[in-house]
Amino acid sequence: MTKKKFGLPAQILIALVLGIAVGLICSATGTTAFTADFLKPIGTIFINLLKFIVVPIVILSMISGIVSMGDLKKVGSVGWKTVAFFLVTTAIACVIGLGVGSIFNGQGWFPALALEEGATWESATSANFMDTLVGIFPSNMWTAFSTANMLQVIVIALLIGGGILAAGERGELAKKFFDSIYAVFEQVMGFIIKLSPIGVFTMMAWVVATQGANILGPIALVLLAAYIGYFLHAVVVYSVSAKIFAHKNPVEFFKGAAAAMIFAFTSTSSVATLPVSAECAEKMGADKGVAAFVLPLGATINMDGTAVYQCVATIFLAACCGVNLSMSQLIMVVITATLASIGTAGVSGAGMIMLAMVLESIGVPVEMIMIIYGVDRLFDMGRTCLNVTGDIACSLCVTEWQKKQK
Ligand code: ASP
Repeated sequence: MTKKKFGLPAQILIALVLGIAVGLICSATGTTAFTADFLKPIGTIFINLLKFIVVPIVILSMISGIVSMGDLKKVGSVGWKTVAFFLVTTAIACVIGLGVGSIFNGQGWFPALALEEGATWESATSANFMDTLVGIFPSNMWTAFSTANMLQVIVIALLIGGGILAAGERGELAKKFFDSIYAVFEQVMGFIIKLSPIGVFTMMAWVVATQGANILGPIALVLLAAYIGYFLHAVVVYSVSAKIFAHKNPVEFFKGAAAAMIFAFTSTSSVATLPVSAECAEKMGADKGVAAFVLPLGATINMDGTAVYQCVATIFLAACCGVNLSMSQLIMVVITATLASIGTAGVSGAGMIMLAMVLESIGVPVEMIMIIYGVDRLFDMGRTCLNVTGDIACSLCVTEWQKKQK
């Protein structure tokens, strides 16, 4: 018998099922207190580790993303068009995610849970637009880190990344330093993700024991909402952009992208899918040079599926806290989810960690993530599939735009 019999996804699934079973038993036998006193604290350790890793990962992945673009001037016109395509489509993805999430919530399908003391909602955004704008810019770097103020952390990352590029040769050491430390933190994130089954088991047992089996229906519904969002985004945004900008019939486009979409769906990693996406894009007529630039960049920063997921999940988890988001909070979610999806690494499960950033920006307790953590793989399959499709669509559109310019 080999020691490692099950991979992580299987372990998480088993943990999920066991957690639900233990939760149901405790709820039926009136031993809910056991889950609250002994299992939940273990889950809390896992949540603390997640919170701990978010700030370093966001700052380091953003710095390395910016620096890897090299000299911004050299990247030139392809770079700007690509980034513009990424930003616009991701913002649309957020709006679709919020729209679908709000419709489900409006039907009363997302329940308010009886939260424990300490896991209550604290609205973080009662400020007006100008205050919010001013608040994005840090006056103290360490305060931004210690309070996990994500927008400030991103501004710091942009400034440092830009500074390294501007410093040219003298910035080389800093570039290597950040690259190396990012590699270290990616490993640390890997360690923490390995603990997921324990976190999933303990928190799921607690959630089901305290909320009863009723919570399982809403979890299925939020999954459905996310998949409707993924589907709408693919049909509306990619069909339309393939048709209008790349002059491709949508059916032809999805047929051409199918291999990469299936690979992404099963691997849940945009980065691992890169060779397949490159082949699909080139077969459909993307310029080799454009694809070589757009696809790796897209696998790192263009995550429309992740944005849809983060928005649907945020509406759901806020609803679980008994709160409907105000307009200014929704705008905040669009901004942070766009940025969070940019900061998401193209590897399995990364988007769920970045969800913590979106929740923190509007004050939803990060603990709430545990409600959907156990089924994250199911969300991840669909969102990675969409992420990769977006990269391929972008490579085709930019190819056409470049042709026109000549
Ligand atoms: N797994 C996704 C990707 O690689 C990222 C995520 O978790 O949202 O594209």
